[in-house]
Amino acid sequence: MRVGIFGGTFDPVHQGHLIIAEQVLEALALSHVIFVPGGMPPHKEASSIHASTGDRVALVEAAIAGNRRFSLDPVEAEAGRKMYSVETVSLLKERYRADEWYFISGADEVSNLLAWKQPDQLLDEAFMVAATRPGHDLSALGHLEEELANFDKILPVQCSRVDISATGIRGRLAEGKSIRYLVPEQVYGMIHDRRLYESRGERTKGESLREREVS
Ligand code: ATP
Repeated sequence: MRVGIFGGTFDPVHQGHLIIAEQVLEALALSHVIFVPGGMPPHKEASSIHASTGDRVALVEAAIAGNRRFSLDPVEAEAGRKMYSVETVSLLKERYRADEWYFISGADEVSNLLAWKQPDQLLDEAFMVAATRPGHDLSALGHLEEELANFDKILPVQCSRVDISATGIRGRLAEGKSIRYLVPEQVYGMIHDRRLYESRGERTKGESLREREVS
């Protein structure tokens, strides 16, 4: 059995995440993908995270609810501290049985792998899946070959180009613009109901925009 681990800030989860999880699962014949929302990702400043851990976990739960091959593990969310991927993978390996593990990331993140904690040890524990992302093609991974003993455990997977980012979504919300269809419908509703990502001055504008959209 092959299992994928998909870590991320998911601030918020969006269609790009779901599409790469689905396409990597299919391309590598994974039995399922475990989404792992990060409580405090080591490479991001706490102040750069916008929604609470609880809200981000709830959004991911809602996003994956319709797919029986997707699940969520709160290992990082519950840790209450920064966790490195190498630690997350070894903890999950104690919790679940699998013959092979695949750590899924966008090519943008994988190209920066040398900055991760113990990248070769991480590659001992799991294959690293580099999913293509617009603006980050797989040629950006070439420089890792000389640096990593386990370079052959990096598996590029060509995915549909989906030019959606959480940063872009937060930017649109702050401007009171629609994010409908950039995120699953359930997530869209929760973001508005919980008033996530709206800067104070924009809340009224955001609300009235949604009223227009749903009426
Ligand atoms: P932000 O804009 O806040 O940095 P993000 O959209 O990159 O967020 P993350 O939660 O940081 O979302 O992403 C989790 C993983 O999913 C990362 O490895 C990232 O590279 C990958 N990813 C996110 N969006 C896409 C996309 N549209 N296509 C391919 N990979 C993606």
